[in-house]
Amino acid sequence: METSVSKCVHASMYVFMSNTTIPYTSASSIETQWQALFEGRNEAVVTLALLFLSHEVIYFTRCIPYLIADQIPSLQKYKIQQKTIQNTSENQWKVFRYVLMSHFFFELPMIVGFHPVAVYFGMAISAVPFPPITKMMAQIFLFFIFEDFFHYWAHRGLHYGPFYRHIHKLHHEWSAPFGLAAEYAHPIEVLILGTGTIAGPLLLCYFTRDLHLITTLTWMTLRLFQAVEAHSGYDFPWSTHNWLPGWSGSEHHDYHHMAFTNNFSTSFRWWDHIFGTNKKYIAYKARQAAEKKTQEAKKTM
Ligand SMILES: [Zn+2]
Ligand SMILES: [Zn+2]
Repeated sequence: METSVSKCVHASMYVFMSNTTIPYTSASSIETQWQALFEGRNEAVVTLALLFLSHEVIYFTRCIPYLIADQIPSLQKYKIQQKTIQNTSENQWKVFRYVLMSHFFFELPMIVGFHPVAVYFGMAISAVPFPPITKMMAQIFLFFIFEDFFHYWAHRGLHYGPFYRHIHKLHHEWSAPFGLAAEYAHPIEVLILGTGTIAGPLLLCYFTRDLHLITTLTWMTLRLFQAVEAHSGYDFPWSTHNWLPGWSGSEHHDYHHMAFTNNFSTSFRWWDHIFGTNKKYIAYKARQAAEKKTQEAKKTM
């Protein structure tokens, strides 16, 4: 049986034999495990399994805190929409079943195509060492910017009459969304908006030949976190937009579902601001603030 030490030595040899120019003396335990995952196996099959299983685990696990929050009465004051309640057990089951079906029948075939395309564009798959954390962070930041811009225009396009009626209307079945509904969408929408997530890494790879699958996986994880939070229907004091300036978050995207217009971006608020597609949202927020002020004044009288 191979010990972790022998695996580590083996990993070092592997890197030496692959003529890498990066100084490398010993593999971290994660890198060793990463290599062990691929060792003696078909790289395309391992990549497919990694992407699909991590997507399932991360997506549904990320939804769990919101499902728990639904059961805690004291947290209901953080629900963004107090009058429209759609996060019922019946709706959650309906969405869970659809999303699971969508993952197996629409997303899995797309993931099958990932490995050959990624290898063609020059992505490092099983190689170690991993890139430095600073490089990973910089690349992921670029993916956030690219995806946000792509999503803004693609999403705005999906609100055009026939596209909305035949494709995007399904996602808007929920005017008061909940976490599981993040990927409740028509297969064509999954394909279009999924392109924004994967095109950034592929383009960067094509131009720089310097991207690792681990960076792409980390990016996809953060993107899933963003999507589930945006649809959660909750605006907690610790929600991302309350401590990260410019972040869209749940409060921004919830308005889009409620009003069926404005706030087309995913991660940041700036495109809606620049292109003037947040005017109704800003007016709504101003009305809400004025109402709150009036109610507070009445209480003190
Ligand atoms: Zn929309
Ligand atoms: Zn949405």
